[in-house]
Amino acid sequence: MRNMADEQQTLLDERALAEATSDPGARIEQLRREIEHHSYLYYAKDAPEISDGAFDSLMRELRELEAAHPEFHDANSPTQRVGGYVGEQFAPVRHARRMYSLDDAMDVAELDAWIDRVEEAFGRFVPVVCELKIDGSSIALTYEGGRLVQASTRGDGTTGEDVTANLRTVKDVPLRLREAGMAGLAGGAAGASAADVPIELRGEVYMPKRSFDALNAAAEANGKQAFANPRNAAAGSLRQKDPSVTAHRDLSSFLYAVADERALAAQSQWELLQWLREAGFHVNPDVELCETREAVHAFCERAVERREALPYEIDGVVVKVNSFAQQAAMGHTARAPRWAVAFKFPPEEKTTLLRDIAVQVGRTGKLTPVAEMDPVVVAGSTVARATLHNEDEVRRKDVRVGDTVIVRKAGDVIPEVLGPVLSLRPDDAQEWRMPATCPSCGSPVIREEGEADFRCISIDCPAQALERLLHWASRGAMDIDGMGEEIVTRLVEAGRLSDVADYYTLDAVELAMLDMGRVNKDGEPIRLGETVAKKLVAAIDESRTRPFARALFGLGMRHVGKTIAELLAAAHPSVEELMAASEEDLAAIDGVGPKIARSTYLFLHTPDNVAVIERLGKRGVRLADEAGDAGEELPQTLSGLTFVLTGSLVESGMTRDEAGAALKARGAKVSGSVSKKTSFVVAGEAAGSKYDKAVALGVPVLDEAALLRILETGEAPQAEAE
Ligand code: NAD
Repeated sequence: MRNMADEQQTLLDERALAEATSDPGARIEQLRREIEHHSYLYYAKDAPEISDGAFDSLMRELRELEAAHPEFHDANSPTQRVGGYVGEQFAPVRHARRMYSLDDAMDVAELDAWIDRVEEAFGRFVPVVCELKIDGSSIALTYEGGRLVQASTRGDGTTGEDVTANLRTVKDVPLRLREAGMAGLAGGAAGASAADVPIELRGEVYMPKRSFDALNAAAEANGKQAFANPRNAAAGSLRQKDPSVTAHRDLSSFLYAVADERALAAQSQWELLQWLREAGFHVNPDVELCETREAVHAFCERAVERREALPYEIDGVVVKVNSFAQQAAMGHTARAPRWAVAFKFPPEEKTTLLRDIAVQVGRTGKLTPVAEMDPVVVAGSTVARATLHNEDEVRRKDVRVGDTVIVRKAGDVIPEVLGPVLSLRPDDAQEWRMPATCPSCGSPVIREEGEADFRCISIDCPAQALERLLHWASRGAMDIDGMGEEIVTRLVEAGRLSDVADYYTLDAVELAMLDMGRVNKDGEPIRLGETVAKKLVAAIDESRTRPFARALFGLGMRHVGKTIAELLAAAHPSVEELMAASEEDLAAIDGVGPKIARSTYLFLHTPDNVAVIERLGKRGVRLADEAGDAGEELPQTLSGLTFVLTGSLVESGMTRDEAGAALKARGAKVSGSVSKKTSFVVAGEAAGSKYDKAVALGVPVLDEAALLRILETGEAPQAEAE
């Protein structure tokens, strides 16, 4: 339902966008600079500004662009290097052998592609070891004569930082190898005693989740800056100037590698892990030697499930070819071994391109900006659209068409655009403004004082008409089964539906002939058909006798949700009585404030609306409750409980007044301020000081989902209701 002006705007946006993205060289350069900036913050400062998911998604875009445009190859690109940093406050340490990063598999398909490559190399599946990918800081430990002589960070892979003094304070790192471990050393050059040859072992130093929380709580209490995550806390703690600071940080380690496998009798990763245990190191117990692809899949699935419950953070599973000989046969690229892959858990944040900010017109004329993006899979589902709520929100986030934006989706939560990656913004990206006219009907739009929303107030706006028609037929309202968007749109276009009273003039014969705007393989127009038409007419007929409150809700009056409609119908059980009520009468109904009273009164006294209501009545729609329909009191399951509502209820679209009335209808009290006597605080989006007060007083806080459950079941959450 776009009009000309809108289409033109879109074309303009698309042109700007094409210009912004048609210069891959410039984009590659921008991405490299951006990635280097974030790598510096992450590795050198231990203080990232964006999530790993968002970082990985920039890296991925760069990798894809470089693959598509080999002419821009650069050995110094972040894709070609091990990410890291060598600080000046530490002595440099050259690694006996390079320390590599790992290539990522972002989903099962990419994991399978890696397994395919292994199978190609050996003509069959070869045993692999699955290990948890510990989200800590990479460490290399050198032992000579069985004693720890040096510890270093990964640095840039070739040179690391000497952190020996700090590492000595990590309690589970043995300062001396156990006897059983000494026996497994193979020795180096002929003639040298095995025990005297230095051996470099590798693993991860990490901070347990609980210690991380305690550290950050203390930092906050002392007004110091908190760490972004346990990985940065571990890296930061290890890179302290003063080892006594490291000693007070609760760090642990897991070892899993040897720099040069010739130093050991072990012939495989599995034997190496066994040797590390015997030598006295901490080795993660969640490891498996897998003989089939299915076993690898199962290990990864289990890791995803167990992730939350583990006392330390993991960000994936590392799968490694088991045999050292086979590892050597596969070799390395410049930055990572080919014989291993990191299967990463689905990230909750990604970056993508914002193609357009479309404007949707709701049934009450509300204009909502909606981000339209290149589809990305975030936390397991594809995201291409996300509401931006209103113009202020677009400005606050400062997102513009052409921006690379960070999108978030945690668990079941609705996708959200967090903001732009500013340095990737095209030069000509324009600040976004709400159009001055309605994108559907072209009428001027208005923003009332004190309101965040713009509205189209035209009674003839087709977008609003369509939404109103759909709303009337929807399940919560008149429930006209089968009357969906496609059919309603066709009927509107055919000039057969312009307001909700028109539903009751439709007959089966004309519905059956309705042209659905498509053709069959013989080029004949597809029509709705007799069977569907008959069902629809029966459903329309059935809707005539719905309770009065459902019709009131179906009319789509502003602020009148389902619960308010019930309160109105209970107080004035026929349309005549309701129309006779004054604005003050309406405001006096419990749960109906002056705002709702005003919009209801205005709606019921607007001539066009009165005409529709009269026609509904003439066409047999019941606009009154019969004895027994109304006045039924709901069971008072919430009596004795006091609720405080704060923030806005986004999912249900209820106002706080509506939610409050629904709670009161079940006997609860609703109060405006939080005290010790408050049973629950319901915190919607952008909840403010009431939320803080509830937390301070220990009053249980419920989210909107919990509120909806209470309204649905009538039961308050168990533990707190005692
Ligand atoms: P990586 O951390 O994804 O993988 C390689 C590392 O995994 C190894 O060096 C090793 O230390 C570790 N590892 C953990 N368990 C292991 C096991 N069992 N076997 C082998 N290795 C194991 O890669 P990377 O190159 O070190 O760093 C990239 C990571 O850092 C990405 O997750 C990226 O998002 C993040 N990063 C984030 C930002 C940011 O701004 N948020 C910036 C730079 C890097």
